[in-house]
Amino acid sequence: MSHAYVVVAEVRAGALRQVTLEALHAVSLLKEEGDSAAAVLIGSQITPLASELAEYLDGEVHVLDHPALENYNAEAYFEALTQVLGTLNPHTVVFGHTAIGRDLAPMVAAHLNAGQISDITAIQNTGTTASFTRPIYAGKAFEQKQFTDGPRVITIRPNNIPTAAKAANPATIVETEYSPAVDLKSVIKDVVRKTSGKVDLTEAKFVVSGGRGVKSAEGFKPLEELADVLGGAVGASRGACDAGYCDYAMQIGQTGKVVTPEIYIACGISGAIQHLAGMSQSRVIIAINKDPEAPIFKVADYGIVGDLFEVVPLLTKEFREILV
Ligand code: FAD
Repeated sequence: MSHAYVVVAEVRAGALRQVTLEALHAVSLLKEEGDSAAAVLIGSQITPLASELAEYLDGEVHVLDHPALENYNAEAYFEALTQVLGTLNPHTVVFGHTAIGRDLAPMVAAHLNAGQISDITAIQNTGTTASFTRPIYAGKAFEQKQFTDGPRVITIRPNNIPTAAKAANPATIVETEYSPAVDLKSVIKDVVRKTSGKVDLTEAKFVVSGGRGVKSAEGFKPLEELADVLGGAVGASRGACDAGYCDYAMQIGQTGKVVTPEIYIACGISGAIQHLAGMSQSRVIIAINKDPEAPIFKVADYGIVGDLFEVVPLLTKEFREILV
């Protein structure tokens, strides 16, 4: 029996999110001969992005383009998405494990009477069984889960699964008429971005994070310069956010964002367990702290004992010479 796989695409600042291409790769890991793949793209004036998305998928891209869908609204997006899912009859729906994916996926799972496995970091498919790896206990251990039956809803943690390669045959674009049927209980009037927006924190390959050791909002400047040179993003500990040095949108950890960059540079962060929950799966961790006993050094691959205000500008200078 053939199965239908559906990826729910995400757009950020007018571009496709990288996690969407990772979700497409997840489908290629799961799909068997004869199965179909589709992506659903929801937004306003996003039709040009549909052609871009179509290059990565041998199947169909369903586009719901409507002014009411300009900004994410759970009710409207759920209504639009379920309109399309009704025609696709999916066996597996794949979301990014992002703010939107985490919001929509359980609603869709309930709607489809599906099981859900969230925050997947790896997929093993033997052809007869697919196992999904996900972190538990705030990243201290991993578990492997399997579905007993479909339909299935999964969410993919950004930066863990490779992105899809371009398809031999680009997907067919199917434009679907969206007519809002429900009276929305809420409407988005405005979106105020609290981060620089240059690079998405959860998808960044390089993250430079500051803690209370940064000492002020001004103290984040050298970190921003280092992140700029690396083409990365700036994060923070809750200590730094609580102290008012930066916005909570930058917080990494148990009650903040989870990041898994290639390189995580922790500056003036002690390494509390709640912070580690958001960054310990980074490929390489570099810690800069003037206290040699700071717990962050226990998880760091490279540790620099020193004053961040001396070390960070030196790193920026060196990287600028190598990279720029
Ligand atoms: P501190 O622990 O004060 O560490 C500052 C570090 O900076 C020290 O190690 C010091 O040696 C170093 N330092 C000072 N000056 C310099 C300098 N000039 N150069 C180099 N190093 C310097 N925390 C999170 O981060 N994320 C979360 O999501 C989170 N969730 C939480 C949820 C709960 C329920 C609770 C109870 C706590 C949570 N916390 C979280 C808070 C966490 O327990 C810590 O309090 C917090 O991470 C500490 O932040 P910090 O490392 O920046 O500050």
